[in-house]
Amino acid sequence: MQTQQLQRLRTVTIFLVLLVPFGAFLFYLNWHPGLAEDHHDWVRQSSEPVPAGLTLMWLGAAGVYVSDGDTALVIDGFFTRPPLTQIVFGELEPEPERIRTALEQAGIDELDAVIVTHSHFDHALDAPWIADHFDALLLGSPSAANLARGQGLAEALIREVDDDAALRMGEFRLRFPRSGHAPLPPLLARLAGVNRSIERPLTLPAPARKFREGSLCSVHLTHPQGKVLVQPSAGHEPGALSGLEADVVLTSIAGLEKQSRAYQREFVQHGLQASHPEWILPVDWDDFTRPVSEEVPAPSLLLGNVRSSLRVLEEAAPRVLLTRPLWRMRLMRSGEDMELTRDPSS
Ligand SMILES: [Zn+2]
Repeated sequence: MQTQQLQRLRTVTIFLVLLVPFGAFLFYLNWHPGLAEDHHDWVRQSSEPVPAGLTLMWLGAAGVYVSDGDTALVIDGFFTRPPLTQIVFGELEPEPERIRTALEQAGIDELDAVIVTHSHFDHALDAPWIADHFDALLLGSPSAANLARGQGLAEALIREVDDDAALRMGEFRLRFPRSGHAPLPPLLARLAGVNRSIERPLTLPAPARKFREGSLCSVHLTHPQGKVLVQPSAGHEPGALSGLEADVVLTSIAGLEKQSRAYQREFVQHGLQASHPEWILPVDWDDFTRPVSEEVPAPSLLLGNVRSSLRVLEEAAPRVLLTRPLWRMRLMRSGEDMELTRDPSS
């Protein structure tokens, strides 16, 4: 064979060898696994409006809204949801138009507090803007406080809380038990500033890596109408939930499927079942690089496999129910029993 032909053959071979992984990358990037609806139960819709009780609403990503009609709280509300290319290569800052639209969709027009469980951007980016917008308290770690200061939130609205804090807001009693982050691969953990803090006010825009984790807490709410635990990451701190019962646990399942079986069992046992919940509602299983809506799909298979994460919960806990972002659910006491239904007005 002539040299020229050999060279051409080599070029074609190199091209084909590169094409296969690139094709696989595109395939996984664009494949958003659906939820096998025949295998999952959704929160049952009530046939009539449910006037009493606590309203619970998943806001997309790890965001959760809780209200009793008088006092309203948002935990980790994140609505800017920038595209993946901006998260990886660009800088981040709150996008007021996207936040306003999402708040309107969610029907949130008053808030008393915005709670930040840790200061990664997908939990904390929008919190200072939202707190400022509603003149609400921002509660979080010293890192979350520095994030708020960097965005110019009034000092009177910033309150640092730790695992000893027990606050009263209206009829809610709030606790912030220490918790853990779902383990990340080493490079990602370094980029995400795991176990590192935001030491001084952070001005925006800033790249995602500047949103260091700070300390991480769960949120436990006690109210005459029910008890709620929010687990913002699939991790736990041994013994932290002791004595903190919950009727409902809303838990992040992001990255749970990537952990070892032993880790998954530990998390389910000590991070969820330790509160003896009646219901477990998985959250944080949507593609947060798209605007929030009821129909937002699961993340691309390149980033996670929601179905595997759900199987982990279901194997371990029989009362796992699914909800979609922006569904309003009611938790209420009915005699000795608790009820959880989806409000038909949502
Ligand atoms: Zn995080």
